[in-house]
Amino acid sequence: MRQKNMLIPTLRNVGAEAEMVSHRLMLRAGMIRQLAAGVYTYLPLAYRTLRKVEQIVREEMDRIGAQELLLPAINPAELWQESGRWDDYGPELIHFQDRHERDFLLGPTHEEVITDLVRNEVNSYKKLPMTLYQIQTKYRDERRPRSGLLRGREFLMKDAYSFHVDWESLDKTYRDMYQAYIRIFTRLGLDFRAVEADSGAMGGEENHEFMVLSDSGEDTLALCSSCQYAANVETAKVGRDETKAPDMAEVPKPEKLSTPGASTIDEVIQMLDKQPEQLIKSLLFTVDGDPVLVLVRGDHEVNEIKVKQALGAETCHLADDQTVNRVTGAPTGFAGPLGLKEAVRVVADHAVYEMAEAVTGANEADAHLLHVAPGRDFQVDLYADIRTVQEGDACPHCGEPIRFAKGIEVGHVFKLGTRYSDSMNATFLDQEGKEGRLIMGCYGIGISRLVAATVEQSHDDNGIIWPVGAAPYHVHLIAVNLKDETQSRLADQLYERLRADGVEVLYDNRQDRAGVKFKDSDLLGIPLRITVGKTAAEGKVEYKFRRSGKSGTLTTEELIKKLP
Ligand code: ATP
Ligand code: MG
Ligand code: MG
Ligand code: MG
Repeated sequence: MRQKNMLIPTLRNVGAEAEMVSHRLMLRAGMIRQLAAGVYTYLPLAYRTLRKVEQIVREEMDRIGAQELLLPAINPAELWQESGRWDDYGPELIHFQDRHERDFLLGPTHEEVITDLVRNEVNSYKKLPMTLYQIQTKYRDERRPRSGLLRGREFLMKDAYSFHVDWESLDKTYRDMYQAYIRIFTRLGLDFRAVEADSGAMGGEENHEFMVLSDSGEDTLALCSSCQYAANVETAKVGRDETKAPDMAEVPKPEKLSTPGASTIDEVIQMLDKQPEQLIKSLLFTVDGDPVLVLVRGDHEVNEIKVKQALGAETCHLADDQTVNRVTGAPTGFAGPLGLKEAVRVVADHAVYEMAEAVTGANEADAHLLHVAPGRDFQVDLYADIRTVQEGDACPHCGEPIRFAKGIEVGHVFKLGTRYSDSMNATFLDQEGKEGRLIMGCYGIGISRLVAATVEQSHDDNGIIWPVGAAPYHVHLIAVNLKDETQSRLADQLYERLRADGVEVLYDNRQDRAGVKFKDSDLLGIPLRITVGKTAAEGKVEYKFRRSGKSGTLTTEELIKKLP
């Protein structure tokens, strides 16, 4: 393309509100413009890069036999009510009513829609396993959408879903996906790690996050200095951290609270069975031998709403503006959808160190306590030897020291199991004609975030340095002085020749000063720059690689021979 008429509105400076390097550089390179908080226009250069990344993802999905489709972004509330997530997803869900006052939402993810499709259209084991994927705009009303494409409220995601008759089959697809992700991020030239991860609000089993290493990342990773072990610090528990335990003398003694509304154990268990996600945020303790459930962590507002709903109460007690709690629950109601392992992790995370202000109680009104300290006030036996990993700890696999690094989550693979097929009754007939529940996996990649993460990892003071796989163009051709006939003729010829050879070339044919062109060229970060300048008279041009800075002079024929 000839740059003169292209929409590449580069800027020398951007406002201080753009904090992240990728945000600043993509604004400056004329790639993105903000329309509203977390909502961006992709200008031509950014859109080319997005499509490059999409194409790599598509090729690797197709390679493992996944089928591409496109699901609607508008989802009817009924499906999400069926899965329980209409109430549960929380304030990130963007929803609206149509003219008939029917509820809809804009999909933040598509487990419900795909499960609905597959339960209607796939009935027999003969069609399974099956993996479906789409590349689509997603909507999440993020709390702080301030980081450019890293955290948008409208963003592009590849989401894939697999369906299986048994866990072995899911294991295989999970491994294939994992390998496909490794190929994708490798093709993009990224320095990344796959880490064991916490299942967050998805309510699942094994899962891994793919993290692009970057000091600006929000996640902390525990990496082994010697073997392949890598985990999200959230999940990496190795032993108990006494140093962080609160001074019990400073924690006030438990104090009795009166409880609003009545609570029945059945109501609470019902709520928990329906909404296992919030359960992940829950703890199980015993007080004098009675099981006690404490809701902690997670989205405060969501917990509050849910607890109030479940108990029919107008208010519920909050502690420390962090911990909300109501009580009760039999061990099975709690551990069922979660698994003991998850419970142990959550307990280790929060019980001892953050729960000093917690409220707890039993399954009857007026029996709640404020300021309970697990361990001091009641017995806690699930988490005896667990704590968050620290730098320098021994790696659980090989014993070598752990180091920390920051990362940006660009992908996530999950074994969902029957989380959605249970709540949405998605079944198939097996070989004997018996009905079975579909076993599922889900696999996301944030395509637009991936572009920004690439910039976070690959830039210098002068601008972006695109890896070839994501570069909007491969060659930036610059004519230093277009008024010089020899230069302009050679540049034009070279441009046509490169294009004819299928090279993706951006030709800076603007009448600007050379200094402006070079500055912009560094900012845009196209991998190879070819400059037609003074040596044009000898039929020679200068080449320079954006990343290494390596440069030299060649005749145009030599140059063309070297290009792939
Ligand atoms: P995060 O922890 O950053 O909020 P997430 O765990 O909520 O992300 P997932 O539900 O796992 O995200 O979605 C799959 C992928 O979509 C993520 O791995 C990430 O790459 C991308 N993604 C999630 N939220 C956003 C967002 N707001 N903007 C851009 N990409 C996003
Ligand atoms: Mg999120
Ligand atoms: Mg996450
Ligand atoms: Mg995730």
